[in-house]
Amino acid sequence: MMNKKRMPALFLAHGSPMNIIEWNTFTEALLALSGSLPHPTGIIVISAHWQTRGTQVTCTRQPRTMHDFSGFPDELYHIGYPCPGSPEMAERVRAALGPGVVSCDMERGLDHGAWSVQHHMYPLAFIPVIQISLDVSLTSEERMELGKRLSPLRDEGVLILGSGNVVHNLGLVDLDNEQAPAYTWAQSFDSWVAGCVESNHLEELTRYRLAPFSELAVPTDEHYIPLLYVAGLRRSDDMLTTVFEGFQNASLSMRCIRVG
Ligand code: ZN
Repeated sequence: MMNKKRMPALFLAHGSPMNIIEWNTFTEALLALSGSLPHPTGIIVISAHWQTRGTQVTCTRQPRTMHDFSGFPDELYHIGYPCPGSPEMAERVRAALGPGVVSCDMERGLDHGAWSVQHHMYPLAFIPVIQISLDVSLTSEERMELGKRLSPLRDEGVLILGSGNVVHNLGLVDLDNEQAPAYTWAQSFDSWVAGCVESNHLEELTRYRLAPFSELAVPTDEHYIPLLYVAGLRRSDDMLTTVFEGFQNASLSMRCIRVG
């Protein structure tokens, strides 16, 4: 019975902010995904775009929409995601992670890594959303451990998701052409991640620096490491499913993974 109530955990790609105003196979997959999930009591997002020293959690009751990107069409800056926050869920996170691990941020809103995917999954914005920051001082193993400690919240109906990109190289991105063919090195690294998922070896994901072309696919860590928190959320009887795969803009993997 417990298994029935357990909420899946997700790793979601977000890619270019243009996805916010586009309707493409990726955004269609996000909408279909939300329709396949039980109704969440709340949502916790671990986004590539909030890096801190020490782990922080958003504690505001009404988080503002952050437009933390530049050089995109005006239209994008007028879209908001007016969901409620939840100081109560933030407190639950602090309790789950243990004393002194997490501090409360009373100022921060939701960055685009968090709200751009919610915008497609839950467009009515009525489910409370909080964010947990990426602590830059943690090792990969510590990130998985942190995910593991959050995992009981899944039994309380909370949807926990990491938002990043398995492959993310902005230096080599082709922003003018979403359909640009993916680089072969990008495909190689992405396939390595797919292999870890298909063979059920999520702990392998911590060794990404040994994977093919990791220096090109993951030039900086922040878009990859939300995946490690999600790997830690996995329970032994959880199925792993690829929700979406493909590339945008030549160097952004849009691979999305469902755990449970
Ligand atoms: Zn991003």
